[in-house]
Amino acid sequence: MHKIPLNAAPLRVLIIGAGFGGLGLAIQLQKAGIQDFLILEKGAKVGGTWRDNTYPGAACDVPSHLYSFSFEPKVDWSRKFAPQAEIFAYQQHCADKYGLNRQIRFNTEVASAEFDEVAGLWRVVSTSGETFSAQALVSACGQLNRPAYPRLQGVEHFRGEVFHSARWNHAYDLSGKRVAVVGTGASAIQFVPAIAPQVAQLHLFQRSGAYVIAKPDRAYKPWELALMRRFPALQKADRLLKYIQHESRVLAFSVFPSLMKLMRLEFNRHLARTIRDPELRQKLEPDYPLGCKRVLISNDYYPALARANVEVVDTAIREVTAHGVVTADGREHQVDAIIYGTGFAATDFLAPMRITGRDGLELNQAWRAGAEAYLGISVSGFPNLFILYGPNTNLGHNSIIYMLESQFAYVLGCIRALEEQRLRYMDLKPQVQRSFNQRLLKQVQHTVWEQGCSSWYKTAEGKNTNNWPGFTFTYRQQTRRPELADYECTR
Ligand SMILES: Cc1cc2nc3c(=O)[nH]c(=O)nc-3n(C[C@H](O)[C@H](O)[C@H](O)COP(=O)(O)OP(=O)(O)OC[C@H]3O[C@@H](n4cnc5c(N)ncnc54)[C@H](O)[C@@H]3O)c2cc1C
Repeated sequence: MHKIPLNAAPLRVLIIGAGFGGLGLAIQLQKAGIQDFLILEKGAKVGGTWRDNTYPGAACDVPSHLYSFSFEPKVDWSRKFAPQAEIFAYQQHCADKYGLNRQIRFNTEVASAEFDEVAGLWRVVSTSGETFSAQALVSACGQLNRPAYPRLQGVEHFRGEVFHSARWNHAYDLSGKRVAVVGTGASAIQFVPAIAPQVAQLHLFQRSGAYVIAKPDRAYKPWELALMRRFPALQKADRLLKYIQHESRVLAFSVFPSLMKLMRLEFNRHLARTIRDPELRQKLEPDYPLGCKRVLISNDYYPALARANVEVVDTAIREVTAHGVVTADGREHQVDAIIYGTGFAATDFLAPMRITGRDGLELNQAWRAGAEAYLGISVSGFPNLFILYGPNTNLGHNSIIYMLESQFAYVLGCIRALEEQRLRYMDLKPQVQRSFNQRLLKQVQHTVWEQGCSSWYKTAEGKNTNNWPGFTFTYRQQTRRPELADYECTR
C-alpha cells in the first residue's frame, strides 16, 4: 500500500474525517481530477457513525435507497432500512472501489489547525504532534461523533459495567443481567428491543417519552432484488419517491405546523395498538408537542416495553451507588450494568479541535454564542475552511447524505475557484454570514422545534445550531456553486 509521507509538501486539500462526508467528498475530488488530497481519520477504519455505532439493532431510519450516495447506487440492500453492518460494508466498498484507503491516514486525530495568512495555508497538527499543511481544509467530522455522557452523581462508585451505546462493549455478555438503560432517544429505541429478550431485567430511565411511530421496514423479497438488479432504474425511481415522501414532511415541520395533527393521530394509534396497559401508556406519553424533538420510528420499541422483564422508570435519577441507580423517590434499582443511550455532543461541532483563523481568531471564540456558518459551510475569518454537515444542516425529515452531496458541489466549487482564480485565500464576508443567519433564525422561529422543549438540536442557551429549517431542494439550489462576490478573495 502507498505510504503517505510525513510532513510532506502542502496539499491542495486536507479532509478531517472518513465518514460519509469525507469519503463522498474524496470521491468527488477524484472525479474532478483532483488527486492532491489526504484524509486524516482518528479511527482505524472508515465509516464514522456506522463504524462506531455497533449496538444491537443499529440501523438507519431513512430508507437505504435514499440513505446512500446517488453516485454509488446499491440495488441489493437486504431491507428497506439497512442494518448498521450493511451500511458500514457499503462505506468500505466505496473506499475500496475508489482506492481511497491509500489517501487516508488512519489513527490520526487532528488536535489543532491554524491559518497562515501569508502562505495561504492551513497548518494542521495531530494529537501525536505530526504536522500537515494544505491550501483548503475540510472538516468532515459530523455532528454525532462524540458521545454525550450524563453527569450522574456517584457513578464512579458503581461496581458493574458502564458503557455508551456508541461505544458498545461487545465483550460484556448481557445474558441474564440486570441492566439500566439511561435515555430514550433514537439509539435507545433501537437497542432496547434487541437486548430486552436477553437480559433478566431492564430498567429504562426516561426523562421524557419519545414520539415513536411505525417503521415501514421489511426485508426485500428475492424477486424485488432480482428485478432491481435487472433494471437498476427501479432503485433510482424508488429513491426519488422516498425523497418526495420525506420532503413533504417539511410542510408540517416548518411551513404548516398544524399538519402535525395527522402525525399525532398516527402516534396515538401506534401507542394504543402496541401498549395495552393504560398506566404504561400514560408514562410513555411525551410531555412536549410532537415534532419538537426528533420523531422516531420503530415497530418493536413499545412491544419491548410491554414485556414483563422491562420497567419504564420516569422518576428522575438521584444518584448511582455501588450496586444500582437510585431515583428521586429514594428507590434503588439494583443493576449489573448501566448503558447510556444519551446521544451525542451535537452542538460542539469541530470542538475539541482548536481552529485558529485570521488575526488569531479561534473558532470556539467566534462561536461562543453558538455555532453558525454560511450554508453550514463557510465561517467568516476562517479562509479556505469548509465544513461538511456543519451548523444548521441537520435534518428532522430527510437523508443527511442528500445534504452532504449538496455540500460536495459547493466545496468543490470553492476548491476549483482557489486554483482557477489563483487565489491565496477566500474569506467569507461577515455581512454575508450575518444576513444569512438572520434569515435562518427567522425561519427557525416558525418551526415545530421552537415550541418550548429542549433537544439536541439546541445549545444550553436554546439556540438551534443544528437543524436546517427548510426544504432540502432549496438548500441544494443555494449550494449549487459558490458566489465569489460573497467572499473576500485575496491573490
Ligand atoms: C446511530 C445513528 C444513526 C443515524 N441514522 C441516520 C439515518 O438513518 N439517516 C440520516 O440521514 N442520518 C443518520 N444519522 C446521522 C449520521 O451521523 C449522518 O447521516 C452521517 O453518517 C454523517 O457522516 P459524517 O461523515 O458527516 O460524520 P461521521 O459519520 O460522524 O464521521 C466523522 C468522522 O470524523 C472523524 N473525526 C472526528 N474528529 C476527528 C479529528 N479531530 N481528527 C480526525 N478524525 C476525526 C470520526 O472518527 C469519524 O470517522 C445517524 C447517526 C447516528 C449516530
